[in-house]
Amino acid sequence: MDIEKKLLRKSSLSTLVNNMRADGKTVFAPTKQNTQIAFTPISSLEEMTEDYIVTNQSPKSVAFPKTEKLLNYQVTQFDITNEGVNPREFPEVVVLGARPCDAAGFESLTAIFTWDYHDFLYTERLKKTVLIGISCAQKDDYCFCTSVKGSPGSTRGSDILLTKVDNGDYLAEIITEKGKSLAGQYPALFEDAPEVDKEKYLARVPVKFDVDTVVQKSGGMFESDIWLEQSFRCIGCGACAYVCPTCACFDIQDESAGSKGQRLRCWDSCGFKLFTIHTSGHNPREVQSQRWRQRVLHKFSYMPDRLNVTGCIGCGRCGRACPVDMNLSEHLVNIAQA
Ligand code: SF4
Ligand code: SF4
Repeated sequence: MDIEKKLLRKSSLSTLVNNMRADGKTVFAPTKQNTQIAFTPISSLEEMTEDYIVTNQSPKSVAFPKTEKLLNYQVTQFDITNEGVNPREFPEVVVLGARPCDAAGFESLTAIFTWDYHDFLYTERLKKTVLIGISCAQKDDYCFCTSVKGSPGSTRGSDILLTKVDNGDYLAEIITEKGKSLAGQYPALFEDAPEVDKEKYLARVPVKFDVDTVVQKSGGMFESDIWLEQSFRCIGCGACAYVCPTCACFDIQDESAGSKGQRLRCWDSCGFKLFTIHTSGHNPREVQSQRWRQRVLHKFSYMPDRLNVTGCIGCGRCGRACPVDMNLSEHLVNIAQA
């Protein structure tokens, strides 16, 4: 699909937010929440912060909420009735300010949620979501998007990608049909774009490893000692999974009150000991090194093999959030060199 290039002035972005809200869309953007930066609904552009490399939590919860109701149930004398969720009630959402890595993360999530089972809750939510990404002008040492075939200005996954150019205005790359449809609703705001060298405005993220080598080598490393060496520090807290834009582990829990209740899908992590424990008490991933191996191999061997995508887009959140400073990119460099 041809990418259309337009100029979105700083003042027009503010008007765009107001207009989208007036048209019934919920606009999520990065906002300061105490010490964290999180995607929250905004009522005006002034609430959005620009002071972030990536947000602490990724925007994945707009399509895959941390806790999501699957159905209500009612136990009667001889039966159980249930009532599912109606996707028509899902809100129209715009995510403003997702980084290119976050947008690419939705491609990995979609691959998971449409593989052996078509998860209509996820796909219906995503259908109603427009991603307006903002390219990265800054990076830190945890960023490694360029090592996993991304870049600070990649259009992959975004519906519209904004890159801040001179005077605080934005180059708007309108990428998908969803992006075109949204921009088409507000044509006066998207002006003809001047010739712009986009690269000039982007952060420079060095390539740390060759991902194809990691994919190729890790597939043969199931029995390697490297997992034990790498996971010595890991305390199995699960923080890495909870901040990750591509992690999709969940469990299902029933919350009952008398004869009624609701069935909930809740984020979970393959880093937790309880995640794989069987009713018999047997746990196929008894120790942390097995759980670390699962995390790395799922992202860099099983997903490329089955879904043709990696399960990591190099946002670096797992390293920033880890209480014992497990830096995934360093471990991937070691795997590439093994
Ligand atoms: S594994 Fe880490 S670096 Fe990769 S996408 Fe998840 S949080 Fe980001
Ligand atoms: S955040 Fe760090 S310590 Fe916690 S599970 Fe992940 S790698 Fe292990």
